[in-house]
Amino acid sequence: MAVRVGVVGVGMIGKEHLRRLQRLSGLCEVTAVSDADISAAQAMAVERPGVAVYPSGLDLIGARDVDAVLVTSKGSTHAEYVLAAIAARKPVFCEKPLATTQQDCQRIVDAEVACGRRLVQVGFMRRYDAAYQSLRKLVADGTIGRPLIFYSAHRNPSVPASYTSDMAIHDTAVHDIDVARWLLGDEVVGITVATPRRNSRGGTLRDPILIQMEMSEGAVANIEVSVNAAYGYDIRGEIVGETGVATLAESNPVVVKHNGNFCGHVPGDWRERFNPAFDREIEDWVRSVAGDSATGPSSWDGYAATVATGAALEAVTIRRRVSVTMAGRPNLYT
Ligand code: NAP
Repeated sequence: MAVRVGVVGVGMIGKEHLRRLQRLSGLCEVTAVSDADISAAQAMAVERPGVAVYPSGLDLIGARDVDAVLVTSKGSTHAEYVLAAIAARKPVFCEKPLATTQQDCQRIVDAEVACGRRLVQVGFMRRYDAAYQSLRKLVADGTIGRPLIFYSAHRNPSVPASYTSDMAIHDTAVHDIDVARWLLGDEVVGITVATPRRNSRGGTLRDPILIQMEMSEGAVANIEVSVNAAYGYDIRGEIVGETGVATLAESNPVVVKHNGNFCGHVPGDWRERFNPAFDREIEDWVRSVAGDSATGPSSWDGYAATVATGAALEAVTIRRRVSVTMAGRPNLYT
């Protein structure tokens, strides 16, 4: 039977995930939507006969025609909805961040552990990107020996006026932080943030930044976030191992050589770069719901990322290294 999904938050990414769900007809159907902006939810429902509009996300989560919930409202609202979904024993896909504070993430982990099975998947879509998956496999296979350093660069051509300096850490670098943990199979124990000379294109924005994360087994992850890079959306990743180096390749299919130069296309934005990964992520979630157990990035991954972004925000404020202390990882997530 198709999984009946309710979507909480039909803003930018909510609409995109809703379209992804609709392409999975047979596996799932969208039966309900909700948004703080009720007219946005109604507009979604008008275009889609059979989709009910609920006055609040909590009403939607409790509804009988909703088997599973996709949370794409703004980050500060995620914890309440994820906790409600766990209480209702309904699988929930939550866009990043799982929650904006370590305490709320801990409450979610505790609630899921008490429930005794995985119900939560967090939207770290890079784990579904084919290039990152190849990189991880190389590390896991031991092809380049024990990993020593992970270099990651996250460059946006520009950002809207509403983008703040702290968002470079909790909104942008959070993906690099998650992928560092995933590729290295290790947890963060210390964070330092360097702030080079500002890019004048960003006005007063603290941009770029360099986050250095020490991992518990000694590897180091160096993350550059540049949000006024001008030339395109560029995601770079390289792992230096004891016996080799593995690097994410350029993603364009054609390189042009002409007049003594060679060049290729740089993606324009994160959608162009990661759309296939988003598609796989949502399909994997729906299939895992049908199979009765979440398998993707977990509440623990959401917790660890929020702890690390919190430490990075502290490090940039106090201009010193910050030790990262996490709770013990429950067996549910091993
Ligand atoms: P958005 O366009 O602002 O959409 C969020 C929607 O949620 C808005 O319609 C907002 O309504 C609504 N909302 C606010 N409070 C709510 C509440 N209490 N209950 C229900 N709906 C509520 O934001 P977005 O860009 O789609 O981002 C949504 C989430 O996805 C964020 O957590 C973001 O970090 C994440 N995201 C992840 C990726 C990724 O790469 N994985 C990419 C983009 C976004 P109002 O406008 O009236 O407040």
